[in-house]
Amino acid sequence: MRYQWPSETQFQEWTLVPEDRQCEMCGGPRHICDHRHHRFFTLQGPVHLVSKLCRCVNPACGGHHVTVSPPTELNLTMPWWSIGWDVFAWIGHRRFARHWSVPQIRAELCDSYHVVISADAIERYIARYQTMVAARHQDPTQMAQAYQGVADLILSIDGLQPEKGHETLYVVRELRLRRVWFAEPLLSSAAPEVQRLLEQARQWADRLGLPVRLWISDKQEAFVSGIAQVFAGVPHRYCENHFLRDLAKPVLEADSKAKVAMRRKVRGLRSIERDVLAEGPEKAETDGNGVVLDYCAAVRGVLNDDHGGPLQPPGLKMAEALGEIQSSLQRNLATKKGGRHRSACSD
Ligand SMILES: [Zn+2]
Repeated sequence: MRYQWPSETQFQEWTLVPEDRQCEMCGGPRHICDHRHHRFFTLQGPVHLVSKLCRCVNPACGGHHVTVSPPTELNLTMPWWSIGWDVFAWIGHRRFARHWSVPQIRAELCDSYHVVISADAIERYIARYQTMVAARHQDPTQMAQAYQGVADLILSIDGLQPEKGHETLYVVRELRLRRVWFAEPLLSSAAPEVQRLLEQARQWADRLGLPVRLWISDKQEAFVSGIAQVFAGVPHRYCENHFLRDLAKPVLEADSKAKVAMRRKVRGLRSIERDVLAEGPEKAETDGNGVVLDYCAAVRGVLNDDHGGPLQPPGLKMAEALGEIQSSLQRNLATKKGGRHRSACSD
């Protein structure tokens, strides 16, 4: 749908004239025959671009029927776009380098640049941006440049299912440069389909002239047999992510039990604090009772900290922290400077 410009919009007027005014076919002159109007947003405000079009003046020449546009037109924007390349690049960068959401991009474009376009339009530009980036990444010359100085390749393949019931997206990545090589949605995970992707990976590796040192994937049958066939002799490792995922649940369950046990053992903080506070605030300063309260606060903090995951189980962190507090208390006791309540805390 064409963009509806509000009637009060103030445009900068830009005019482009074709520089080459000589007909390529007969060598005669080309004259201006028409104008093309294009209004679009730039980061510097709305632009009204007028491109002068020309053609050969000689009606007998084939060039008479060919309209020539100023070549610089496409450096500013694409046909039918309501934004220039600068806004387009800005959107792509915010989306993919900064991971902004579409509403966030829309609001910032409006607030900072007075570029008012719909969420739908932004989504369409993002899709085009993705297509362009993918095309550029897959460009053989670009790839050859990127892989200069890389000695060998590590490839991985995995199937991602965006939503249940949708076709699976198979992604082939190269891990030396952490680069997605290509991705394709496959309706089935049958061996011939997967093998086609593996053969494509083979071609790409050959084109780069680099040996494949290793394959990494999960243990799906189509991967195991396909890689053995297309990349005979290349080691194939199963990715640790899947092992970790299977281990995560039992690890966290065991960790949670350990936390409960520790909390059951380290108790009585409240009664210690009550005893100290009962002696009055002035004692807290002189008698070192403030230190006791600090220890109690530290222990409570450790017991309440639930942050962590399968690789940093919260129970392990808790055990380490309690151990540190215990040895700190032991050091105090050893120097015999402790107040009378500290031994209670170290229990
Ligand atoms: Zn001509």
